[in-house]
Amino acid sequence: MRHITHWINGKAWDGGPARTGQVYDPATGQQVASVDFASAAEVDQAVSGAVIAGRAWAKVSLTRRTDVLFGFRQLLAEGREELARIVSAEHGKIRSDAAGEAARGLEVVDFACGISELLKAEHSVGVSTDVDAYAFRQPLGVVAGITPFNFPAMVPLWMAPIAIACGNAFVLKPSERDPSASLWLAERWADAGLPEGVFQVVQGDKVAVDALLDHPGIAAVSFVGSTSIARYVYGRAAAAGKRVQALGGAKNHLVVMPDADPDVVADALVNSAYGSAGERCMAVSVAVVVGQGKAELVDRVVARGARLALGPGEDPESEMGPLVTRAHLERVLGYVDAGLDQGARLVLDGRQHPHRGEGEGFWLGPTLFDDVRPDMAIYADEIFGPVLCVMSVNSLEEALQLIDGSPYGNGASLFSNDLEAIRRFEIEVEAGMVGINVPIPVPMAYYGFGGWGESMFGDHDIYGSDGVRFYTRLKKITARPLAHRGSLNFPTNQ
Ligand code: NAD
Repeated sequence: MRHITHWINGKAWDGGPARTGQVYDPATGQQVASVDFASAAEVDQAVSGAVIAGRAWAKVSLTRRTDVLFGFRQLLAEGREELARIVSAEHGKIRSDAAGEAARGLEVVDFACGISELLKAEHSVGVSTDVDAYAFRQPLGVVAGITPFNFPAMVPLWMAPIAIACGNAFVLKPSERDPSASLWLAERWADAGLPEGVFQVVQGDKVAVDALLDHPGIAAVSFVGSTSIARYVYGRAAAAGKRVQALGGAKNHLVVMPDADPDVVADALVNSAYGSAGERCMAVSVAVVVGQGKAELVDRVVARGARLALGPGEDPESEMGPLVTRAHLERVLGYVDAGLDQGARLVLDGRQHPHRGEGEGFWLGPTLFDDVRPDMAIYADEIFGPVLCVMSVNSLEEALQLIDGSPYGNGASLFSNDLEAIRRFEIEVEAGMVGINVPIPVPMAYYGFGGWGESMFGDHDIYGSDGVRFYTRLKKITARPLAHRGSLNFPTNQ
């Protein structure tokens, strides 16, 4: 059985007996590894090492920092398939999906490679007689990233490259359900020449998270996960005086206008609702049909969904993998029961879907509920599985109101060629990330990622220029380069 542990000061941690968790192959249900859960004392070791390393790293020239970023980029690009295999083995997603995750992470590294341009400062000459004003950004020190199971490579890559490029040290607490990708990333950082201690990994659960949130050595926390934990992390870390960005869960709507092509929409829904078994914060979980086309669309989605090949992530024939753990599968199955109990119409039952897995894997096929109402649990809650809800409304206005009524505001999408509808949707929809004739998109690395409402607490998006602002603080200088005697009066700006 593999043993997964922390990465502290440039090497795997050798800390003796620890509390541990189990890591599974979701396709077989077999335990494949055990993962150490860090104690508060071990988190303190990681943070203390990062504090020392971070002080030195902040003084390393931009040129050298950029060199390391380019080196890391190269290793990530070369190792993408290996990383995809590691992700797929513990998460369950199919290999091509895992490779896509690595590719989207790589885009953020590309962005961070331009850090010299991103950190260019401002300088005003002669704001008063012989006086200049200027401002520049400095790193915060040590920042923590706490990440979810569903993108064990991409979400850490949303954070660490920018934090490190800005001159910070970074402590990652990945999900305990698929922890191996974090160590692969740590090794690549080391291979790229990043000094020991600048990228640390502590494995674990709430104990490790709380230790990071309370630690005086941590200046800022980036969190991605479910809404209830995001709210908790935001409150606790902010109360400890830290800068926080905490991204939460989602219930993403895709609105179908009467002019939309039902085949195009059905393809988009199948990819977005069932890809990665619905375990994406950008998955569409509600299709809202404006007007009369619901039956026609449902038929098309059911036909496509029923044909999807369910199988282990490593099997090139598989189009969809299993769910991540048995506990998560049971939670999702509970929602299928709740949908039936509350009167939704189950038109595609994923519990009956054949799969190619062996053993006791965590399987659920594409599932579709029609005639869903806003008061049902399957509509109100984030299910985070391959369960799509379909409902109809009479107008775009009603669709916008429905979306506005959801506490989440991660993403929303519209399918239409009607320019007036598109414009109205772009302007009025209550969501942070919007797709037009594409399912919910993950924005490019230079635009930033962040939802609205209960999908995000904090005021800086992850990555993009907001990422640079989040991981730096502004220092404002007023200087008289030619020192000479002045009066003791308050300056009058002349
Ligand atoms: P989660 O909230 O259970 O866990 C996220 C992190 O928090 C993990 O590192 C976990 O160890 C830690 N954690 C869990 N319980 C904790 C507790 N009680 N106290 C302190 N820390 C705790 O989320 P998950 O199940 O790993 O991931 C799925 C969720 O993440 C979904 O809700 C999904 O929508 C969300 N997500 C959001 C985005 C986004 O960008 N908004 C992206 C990816 C995933």
